[in-house]
Amino acid sequence: METKNILIKNATLIADEIKKSSILIENDEIVEISNDLKFNDADEVIDASGKLVIPGLVNTHTHLSMTLMRGLADDMPLDTWLNDHIWPAEAELNGDYCYAGALLACAEMIKSGTTCFNDMYFFMDHVAKAVDESGMRGVLSHGMIDFGDETKRKNEFKETRRIIDKCHNSADGRIKVAYGPHSPYTCSQELLEEVKKEANKSGHRIHIHVSETQKEVSDSLESKGKRPFEYLSEIGFLGEEVTAAHAVWLSEDEISLIKNSQTKISHNPSSNMKLASGIAPVSKLLAEGASVSIGTDGTASNNNLDILEEMKITSLLQKVNTLDPSVLPAKEVYEMATINGAAAIGLEADIGTIEVGKKADMALLDIKTIRMTPFRNPMSHLVYSAQGGDVDTVICNGEVLMENKKLLTIDEAMVIEMAQNAAEEMLTKKAD
Ligand SMILES: [Zn+2]
Repeated sequence: METKNILIKNATLIADEIKKSSILIENDEIVEISNDLKFNDADEVIDASGKLVIPGLVNTHTHLSMTLMRGLADDMPLDTWLNDHIWPAEAELNGDYCYAGALLACAEMIKSGTTCFNDMYFFMDHVAKAVDESGMRGVLSHGMIDFGDETKRKNEFKETRRIIDKCHNSADGRIKVAYGPHSPYTCSQELLEEVKKEANKSGHRIHIHVSETQKEVSDSLESKGKRPFEYLSEIGFLGEEVTAAHAVWLSEDEISLIKNSQTKISHNPSSNMKLASGIAPVSKLLAEGASVSIGTDGTASNNNLDILEEMKITSLLQKVNTLDPSVLPAKEVYEMATINGAAAIGLEADIGTIEVGKKADMALLDIKTIRMTPFRNPMSHLVYSAQGGDVDTVICNGEVLMENKKLLTIDEAMVIEMAQNAAEEMLTKKAD
């Protein structure tokens, strides 16, 4: 393979204080970081004067293709939202729609500094095609739901295995496939146990929704005599390879179960606030030593994929909930969106920090802007002042995906038109 170098010079690196450096990328890897970097043969030089360099952000709970349902149904509870609006629209989905929605989501994520995500949805080989073209990194899982039906269960495993065979480690290794049992209330115990067994044998990760609403907990107590995480612990499901989204309603015992099993939590504050699901005990989980990262959830319940916005909300929500302004300081939130996010998908050795030997996944933000002035505390400005639109340049796996706010791998006007048409066609079918 021919060597390709990118030199990023005069960058301000994310840290507690202002720190200048240059970064040398060779192929997909960061090979040198130094304030005295001499290299004259770079294939591409990016002058990062006036730019803040951060690791590419990691969104640990998404449903990319749901961008097509953005704004479709707002201001209602989760069960009405799902039963009356989202599930009927999803019945009309096809591979083309999922591709269009996923490509739109990739464009939105790149534009706001995210390079990696953890997705669960349907027609995942079509999603993989969009991710491959976008140049992003992601973990994909087919959402499995059996409601106790054996035929459905068999089909869900068939589809999951098909996606694994077709997409795992594709796109130069940027795409991984995980098992995606939807939740303990839509999946039977048989399905969950089989997922755990297969995933452990093959080394794949697991992505699931757990304890999103109070209703889910009371239903679980009624049908199983246990709270959701207690039930999952008892059937041997929890573990470090499991990423559980939401985890809003937790008992003290469940917090211990999460910590002791090293189950990863994806916190989704906007979605939890918008659906009035509740406030996850994030500061408590972190204080107990659990690994918590940040997700946006799908855009039908957020309604965007901006992790910078989610970071600020994460911090503010915990502060007001505990009436303690010292909880979740900027640096802790930054770690949730970067290295904890990487750990939530098993990639902490490869991404999540700007470090020699790691993959070249990073975002450059403008700091010569009104919002970021006076520039004195990079961590504070990133979490409390910055917005997705401040992201100027994005690199993933050593490839420049956006430069000077222009997408290089996706035709922006084309993807907007394609997604608009797909969303309109899908809803026309739903109405028929
Ligand atoms: Zn979700």
